[in-house]
Amino acid sequence: MKSEDFEVFGISVESIRNRNESQVIKYMRELIPQFPDFDYCSICVQDVYALSLNQLAPRYVQKGTIVLRKEFQESDFRDVVEGAIEQVLKNRNHP
Ligand SMILES: [Zn+2]
Repeated sequence: MKSEDFEVFGISVESIRNRNESQVIKYMRELIPQFPDFDYCSICVQDVYALSLNQLAPRYVQKGTIVLRKEFQESDFRDVVEGAIEQVLKNRNHP
């Protein structure tokens, strides 16, 4: 998608989206190798990514807005990604 796809009335919301995505990617790279049973196939990798982002979506926040209570903590991302990996390992989307 192009940058202008993330504009609302000329204001970019792209960074809000990217923050969750880049954090999930960072923790996937760090945490998946800690699970010896992970098979590194595209279905499982994409499932972990989608599952993680689905849990983070309602918590999108932006600095300086009234909805911001506290910055999303690093440990929260870690917990979400770890949980998604465990869920995918328990319930693989393929034989
Ligand atoms: Zn797989």
